[in-house]
Amino acid sequence: MNLLRNILDYLMIKKNSVIFFIFFSLYSLSLADLVKMKVVESRMIGIKVYGKHHVLLPGYLWKSLADKEYVIYYLDNDEVSITDKTTGKVFFIKDRQNFDFFLDDKDSYFVIEKQAFVGHLLFKIGNKTITVINNLSLRDYLYGVVTAEIGDNLGKKDLEAAKAQAVIARTYYLYQKSKYFGDYIIENSSKNQNYLYKRKYSKYVMDAVNSTSDEVLFYKNELVMAVYSADCGGYLASSEEVWSKEIPYLKAKWDGLDFYSENCLHNKKHFYKLKFSVNELENILKKNLFNSPKEQFRTIYIKSRTSSGRVDSLIIYSNLKKYIVEKEKIRYIFKSRRVKTGLPSRLFSIYYIYDDNKLSHVVFAGTGYGHGVGLCQHGALFLSEQGFDYKSILSFYYPGTTLRKIFKGGRK
Ligand SMILES: [Zn+2]
Repeated sequence: MNLLRNILDYLMIKKNSVIFFIFFSLYSLSLADLVKMKVVESRMIGIKVYGKHHVLLPGYLWKSLADKEYVIYYLDNDEVSITDKTTGKVFFIKDRQNFDFFLDDKDSYFVIEKQAFVGHLLFKIGNKTITVINNLSLRDYLYGVVTAEIGDNLGKKDLEAAKAQAVIARTYYLYQKSKYFGDYIIENSSKNQNYLYKRKYSKYVMDAVNSTSDEVLFYKNELVMAVYSADCGGYLASSEEVWSKEIPYLKAKWDGLDFYSENCLHNKKHFYKLKFSVNELENILKKNLFNSPKEQFRTIYIKSRTSSGRVDSLIIYSNLKKYIVEKEKIRYIFKSRRVKTGLPSRLFSIYYIYDDNKLSHVVFAGTGYGHGVGLCQHGALFLSEQGFDYKSILSFYYPGTTLRKIFKGGRK
């Protein structure tokens, strides 16, 4: 009896730390399984939280039952301030300690830079910057990726394409996870995968994720580098055309069922034409390529093409220098306020317009959108409409790969 009493006393004294320990053990265990997605990195971050939530600050739990708006600053003295804009209450955090925002209700959500998020937010304090990392379940993450990547206006005919997208988004994430061990694994951008949270997802998106649950693509015994793009322009690119590395299941080939039609031809933006005046081109190149702002644009032409017909190297002359631009950089040197993403693809030809024998405009006319390696999203939508199932779509775009179930035992 005494022994039991001693144990009970001990537990009473230790109650708080035991609960604390259990909470953090569960917390860190569950975080290990979550998707870690970078949301933003900045010195100042505004965040709105809709619904019940709490903020776990070093040594303090800040609970809130109502909608709130906070602003978080990295201050000049290396402290971080968190201001509740509704009440004016401010907390200061020293020594670059991280803190967390949690949602306490299934209908609660965060909004940062006009984008909504669920799950949990980690505010990681670095050197002069704050990085916000969203931790969420793989299933929630995939609902948002399939929505952002293949659209939330899907119909029944698109379901097999959405399933293929769910499998490759899951494979892509796990591939990244197997390679990177930093604070976050993936970015919410076209660099990795786009993610869009919706309060209510389309039933086809949910069906695509749930019905392919645990399925991923393998090549031999390794996870596939399941890259994809919006529209391959009619001819898929090989991995070496874009990243210089040869990968057996990412080969250049015609994206069509026969040689008379392309799977992605139905895309309304399959063909593009971008016209630049010499003046505009010169200003863009001054910003993105030329060494000196005094350089003047003279001419541009295609030097070589890859096996899939993509522009492999481009030559640009200024009055002072010859520049050779290669691979995907070819697309990005034309980024500007008007042409935000640069050239849509590298499957293009160049036309010149002269005025009084003087070059006045340069026109890029081409097809596709994106790097063109792996699954072509518009092509997959067409194949789905034609009655192909997601397994056939995946084996068309990633030949030689196999579909396997992982997480046996119910882990999602
Ligand atoms: Zn295509």
